[in-house]
Amino acid sequence: MVIVVGSGAGGATIAKELSDRGMEVTLIEKGPKIDCKDAFKHYSNVSSGVEILRTICLGGTTVVSAGSGMRCLEKELKQAGIDLSEEFAEAERELRIMTLPESHFGEGTKRIMSAADKLGFKVEPMPKFIDSEKCKMDGRCTLGCPEDAKWSALNFVQDAERKGARIVTGMPVDEIVVKSGEVKGVKSKGKVFSSDLVVLSAGALETPRLLKKAGIHVTNQNLFVDTFITVGGIAKGIKFDTDITMNALIRFEDFILCPHFSKHLAERMAERGLKASQEDILGIMVKIKDEAVGEVDAEIRKGVTNRDATIISEGASIAGSILEEAGAKPFTFVSTPLRGAHPGGTAKIGVSVDKNLATEVSGLYVADASVLPAAPGAPPILTIVALAKYVSRIIVM
Ligand SMILES: Cc1cc2nc3c(=O)[nH]c(=O)nc-3n(C[C@H](O)[C@H](O)[C@H](O)COP(=O)(O)OP(=O)(O)OC[C@H]3O[C@@H](n4cnc5c(N)ncnc54)[C@H](O)[C@@H]3O)c2cc1C
Repeated sequence: MVIVVGSGAGGATIAKELSDRGMEVTLIEKGPKIDCKDAFKHYSNVSSGVEILRTICLGGTTVVSAGSGMRCLEKELKQAGIDLSEEFAEAERELRIMTLPESHFGEGTKRIMSAADKLGFKVEPMPKFIDSEKCKMDGRCTLGCPEDAKWSALNFVQDAERKGARIVTGMPVDEIVVKSGEVKGVKSKGKVFSSDLVVLSAGALETPRLLKKAGIHVTNQNLFVDTFITVGGIAKGIKFDTDITMNALIRFEDFILCPHFSKHLAERMAERGLKASQEDILGIMVKIKDEAVGEVDAEIRKGVTNRDATIISEGASIAGSILEEAGAKPFTFVSTPLRGAHPGGTAKIGVSVDKNLATEVSGLYVADASVLPAAPGAPPILTIVALAKYVSRIIVM
């Protein structure tokens, strides 16, 4: 029997893979079971300087994803001795990753893409795990898709359940039980769930705390979050707020730019006395590979280093020039606060786990964003799913 802690990108994949292979699985999740359309109610963001976004519920943070699926950190993982070629290919098939048809690019996204192209930047459509036949283009991806058009870890939780996995919700694990260097189970609400095989997938803000409590070495100060801002301006009547979010991509060495609407832009404009409704706003996200110097200890702290600030400024100035070319008025430009949606690195490969994602405690593995070796500066779900498939294979060997 195996216990999986957490049901997001990592945990749900482990539960599905191991129950597929005939193992008895108990998946223990802190949050409640939800309908995807209600995902926005389960944001449990962390104010830590840079605000860190996540959801606590069945399916983890995948339920509010933008549906973007890219391979990332392939080179870094290879350097750490992990070749995910097969797992990536399998994950891409299962999540049905593809770029969306022309019909699913709204006017605002198209304008940003052609403006960037005109300025000489290479623009690509973003690979998505969104079913275009179900998608109604209502701009609600990061609130929870009402049509279930987007893959989320809930799909894998359901697959696991069909294969016999036991799913326990509303059960926050607060301790890993370890005896003589071997894992013996987990504790939640005073109850012990016994097993000599445990996979921790509670996400990069919770997994390191559980590891530390169990006496396993974690570096408190290695948190990255892919810090981002969105720069926006007024382009009357553009109706960009209902476009599929982040449907295109421009890559740079240390950051990416993507078309992105945020309601924070409307709030900032109102504060500046600019009159605009949400449908008049065009925006571009600047997402960077931030330095891994944030802290997860009793408190979570994540700031912006000089290097991060320089990269964000560079990205913002390019985003501004594209927005202007796309028809937004420069005197209306505003920015959202600093946020991060990809926390990781807090139980890094080579520090808290080895290349099999095993800890020094026999039978205890980690499979979530905690193990990532560096800030991806790009959507990490596909990589986390591939890593979880990889560790599942190791476990059943
Ligand atoms: C708004 C938004 C949009 C995003 N869009 C994309 C995108 O388009 N593409 C992409 O690749 N990435 C995207 N991401 C990032 C992506 O969702 C995360 O990187 C990914 O879900 C992390 O996977 P994980 O398994 O590490 O953690 P999570 O998916 O967060 O899962 C952790 C799970 O553990 C549970 N848990 C926590 N503590 C405990 C405990 N003590 N006991 C039991 N359970 C616990 C949580 O409730 C949760 O279910 C987005 C993130 C946000 C916030």
